Amino acid sequence: MNDDPRRRVPRTDAVLADARLEPALATLGRARVKEVVVAAQGRARAGEITPEAVADEVFATLPLTAASLRSVVNATGVLLHTNLGRAPLSPAARDALGVAAGTTDVELDLVSGGRGRRGAGALAALAAAVPDAGGVHVTNNGAAALILAATALAAGDDAERSSTGRGRREIVIARGEMVEIGDGFRLPDLLESTGARLREVGTTNRVHRADYADAVGPDTGMILKVHPSNFVVTGFTSSVPVSELTDLGVPVVSDIGSGLLAPHPLLPDEPDAATELRAGASLVTASGDKLLGGPQAGLLLGDADLVHRLRRHPLARALRVDKLTLAALEATLRGPVPPVRALLETPVGSLRSRSSDIVSVVGPPAEAVDCVAQVGGGGAPGVELPSAGVALPSSLAATLRLGADPVVARVEQGRCVLDLRSVPPEDDARLVAAVRAALA
Ligand SMILES: *Cc1c(COP(=O)(O)O)cnc(C)c1O
Repeated sequence: MNDDPRRRVPRTDAVLADARLEPALATLGRARVKEVVVAAQGRARAGEITPEAVADEVFATLPLTAASLRSVVNATGVLLHTNLGRAPLSPAARDALGVAAGTTDVELDLVSGGRGRRGAGALAALAAAVPDAGGVHVTNNGAAALILAATALAAGDDAERSSTGRGRREIVIARGEMVEIGDGFRLPDLLESTGARLREVGTTNRVHRADYADAVGPDTGMILKVHPSNFVVTGFTSSVPVSELTDLGVPVVSDIGSGLLAPHPLLPDEPDAATELRAGASLVTASGDKLLGGPQAGLLLGDADLVHRLRRHPLARALRVDKLTLAALEATLRGPVPPVRALLETPVGSLRSRSSDIVSVVGPPAEAVDCVAQVGGGGAPGVELPSAGVALPSSLAATLRLGADPVVARVEQGRCVLDLRSVPPEDDARLVAAVRAALA
């Protein structure tokens, strides 16, 4: 038979016109989809698939096309990279998301058949993880936790305004703790958006207990301590710990940011919820997706009456978390050590042996190097984590980012470094495949 099947292999344009590929073209771009088409045509010419199966093969090979979010390997050495979605979730949390995605008993008590407390499991897990907290509540993120605290404690309300004649209430905060949290968002603006007034005390580098004591008055709604989680001030500095502010007659709220629930030996300067509560903080606020290693969420921990007041505030309804977050948070709290913590705690020796394994597989110009990683904007500023990785020519950074399985590396000193501190070991095979493709 002279009907050579190779002649029936569809042309690239014809395959690209298949309507099923439209979403992939929109999200992945024509060049990327074309690569997959060419590969499938090659398999058809080699007789591995029939020419008629080319379009199906392309459709099956393309990464999930319904969403524009792509899975990437974080080889930046920044454990908590906000642009990469901060903490990767544990397998247990991912499984929990799968269950929560369907219909669940998030607010139903299956025993009585009546209404249950929303997210009771996640809240119980959080309370168990921080026994010093009399009450716990979860919001959409750390910023929402702060907004809720500021609104309920310091913004005052119309009823109060008319009965007392007082206007807005004040939040006393150290000038050196008026931080910008990223992407142009500033905590002072966030707090003032609630209607509360900020009363700054101290100077950029120093603040004393007396500054707070002088500022606290009948209009004070709360004292706010904010952990400078993305910068360090060194030199002639002083700040006032929570323990010295608890006798000023107003609630002390401590925004620790990172979500460490208890002290961590590798991060001695990072504040944690248990220590702040024991020091007398009325309320601690934190994020769920930083060092806690869970989903985006805001944690509110502290005095039972205060937390109850926040939970019943009308604004709480607008800041509440969805069932997916509750499921992932509970699994993170109850489950094994989440990836962020495992990455933080990995001995540098095992990173070194992984980097030399990778280099021996991919060969030159890849080179095993020592480097320095960091926790990231979400915590432990200035802490240098010893690390190891794979160095490549700097031009490969873009190639790796644009590859079929994108890898985000760090460019430093004229080279592209794949820092293994932020790469879970199970992703080494992805790194090897990506580097091989980039070098090909
Ligand atoms: C990250 C951070 C926030 C904001 O938390 P989100 O969860 O990102 O909303 C607020 N305060 C501090 C100190 C932080 O580190």
